[in-house]
Amino acid sequence: MQLHEHQAKEILRGYGLPVSNGKVITKIEEVDQVLAELNAFPLVVKAQVHAGGRGKAGGVKLVRNADELRQTVATLLGTILKTYQCPDGKPVNSLLIEEGTDIKAEYYFSITLDRSTSRPMIVASKAGGMDIETVARESAEAIMMVPLDPCLGLTLGKARNLAFDLDLPVQEFVNIVTALYRAYIELDASLLEINPLVLNKAGNLILLDAKLEIDDNSLFRHKDLQALEDLTQIDPLEVAAGEYNLNYVRLDGNIACMVNGAGLAMTTMDTIKLAGGNPANFLDVGGGASAEQIANAMRILMSDTNVKAVFVNIFGGILRCGRLAQGLIDAARMVEIRTPVVVRLEGTNVEEGRALLNESGLDFIVTAADMWDGANKAVELAKKNGEM
Ligand code: GDP
Ligand code: MN
Repeated sequence: MQLHEHQAKEILRGYGLPVSNGKVITKIEEVDQVLAELNAFPLVVKAQVHAGGRGKAGGVKLVRNADELRQTVATLLGTILKTYQCPDGKPVNSLLIEEGTDIKAEYYFSITLDRSTSRPMIVASKAGGMDIETVARESAEAIMMVPLDPCLGLTLGKARNLAFDLDLPVQEFVNIVTALYRAYIELDASLLEINPLVLNKAGNLILLDAKLEIDDNSLFRHKDLQALEDLTQIDPLEVAAGEYNLNYVRLDGNIACMVNGAGLAMTTMDTIKLAGGNPANFLDVGGGASAEQIANAMRILMSDTNVKAVFVNIFGGILRCGRLAQGLIDAARMVEIRTPVVVRLEGTNVEEGRALLNESGLDFIVTAADMWDGANKAVELAKKNGEM
């Protein structure tokens, strides 16, 4: 789960970390209150969206007086901000307005889980700010990576070494990264990224941006954080899938997949790719999907207007093929199916499942002999359907 910058900063303030004074607004009328509470221009107006790259997209603006502030608020609030990280855009429903910082230098600092070493890892660089992706691509040596032993945590030695390598005031930096590491662990974060961590002209460190992602699997013990989730920033289809307890991730292809089991779902996406197509989603209907659950899944797949064909790939184990077939047939009564549906069944009660589908009289169903056949048929049908 992702948090907004202002939420992350509020939490980090609670850890004693240095963040700028600021105020969140959702309406232009609140500008007067901002002016009363924050009086030091320049102020910085920051679009609160779940997407990085706001600065380059015009979502972060420095304003020098009340008129500029009003004008900037009016042009940003209620718009859709498209950034290179999120080309479809995210709605700007709130703005963080902060007292501006006099920047001397911008650093990159983050803590995340490194899957290759199975350890928390600090990533840091002197070349922080809006071009960190270019730095990582073109001068990888400018990026420092420090794997941490989860039992020892961030030791004083490692924190001090990092301060020397970054050439930052040692005690201040050590205090900051120690608090950041504590926050990362206590909040069950999967990512805590400060970009930029800024050295101001007075020589002090300030967290100018904050990106905080919480591991979804830990949310049961972070009800307070879960309550902060802003659903307006999430794809509505993914929100709906969450309500139906479906594991669904939207992708940008045109072949929808309905699969049981996460491993098979991944394999199905790979197979579609190998056959020359592009998956429209990841969807794991799980082991005990009822007709209603299959209808829910179909409803979500059909709501994605990019979808030109569906590939149902089921290995019947706990979810028997007969039951899946009946689920599909029942779902067709509840949801309008507007694309061909290629079905590949294998496993428990497969004969019963195939017979049910053959006798169903549903003309959108195309049966496949095996997974490769199914993927090829889905790619071909999606192509044909897309040309119509
Ligand atoms: P992002 O582009 O979404 O990562 O948004 P950031 O919060 O990182 O802001 C982008 C850039 O705006 C930063 O790298 C800074 O260069 C600039 N910026 C943000 N806050 C301030 C500020 O208080 N003063 C100044 N001078 N620049 C700022
Ligand atoms: Mn940033």
